[in-house]
Amino acid sequence: MLNVVIFGAPGSGKGTQSEKIAKEFELAHISTGDVLRKEMANETELGKTAKGYMEKGQLVPDSLIVDMLAKVLDEKKGSKGVIFDGFPRTTPQAEALKKILNERGTDVSVMLDLQVEEQELITRLLGRGKLSGRSDDNLETIQSRLKVYHTQTTPLIDYYKQEKKYIAVQGMDSIDDIFNRIKETLSTWK
Ligand code: AMP
Repeated sequence: MLNVVIFGAPGSGKGTQSEKIAKEFELAHISTGDVLRKEMANETELGKTAKGYMEKGQLVPDSLIVDMLAKVLDEKKGSKGVIFDGFPRTTPQAEALKKILNERGTDVSVMLDLQVEEQELITRLLGRGKLSGRSDDNLETIQSRLKVYHTQTTPLIDYYKQEKKYIAVQGMDSIDDIFNRIKETLSTWK
């Protein structure tokens, strides 16, 4: 199985690249942000709990996210692999992912770190907020999401370096140029 963790700050292009990678390599795409937004729209218990955290730009607690992830993963059983988009976001989540995948006889194949400059991230997220109306794409929440990313999520770079699964991807070029480089990298796993 090809299991890809796509990593990067909010606005780095994880969602866009994930969709293209999923299509090219026939992978199931799991975006924890999308799953949570669906839970919110359906007003489930999880959705109601998650809403408060998401609107403040904070992370939803690990235990809730890990349970949700395991459930969604089992729904995708039989796929050639998975692209994890927006998960893991903390070291406990990365450890949980390893355990969940190991229990299912597989593991993370590679972590792709999409690198984009901070000012470009803010410009992209503000632009997306205008188009999509995503309630967390406003300046105040964007700043708190970036802070959370720097404090809670970036330790995963060292985690995956130690696992020898880390690959940096320059994320400032056009969508297609970035995708072509990712495609080349992932082809070695095919
Ligand atoms: P995203 O669509 O990936 O930018 O996620 C939007 C929001 O959903 C984040 O700001 C968090 O509040 C929440 N979220 C998504 N994925 C996770 C995760 N793996 N752990 C905790 N919170 C998450």
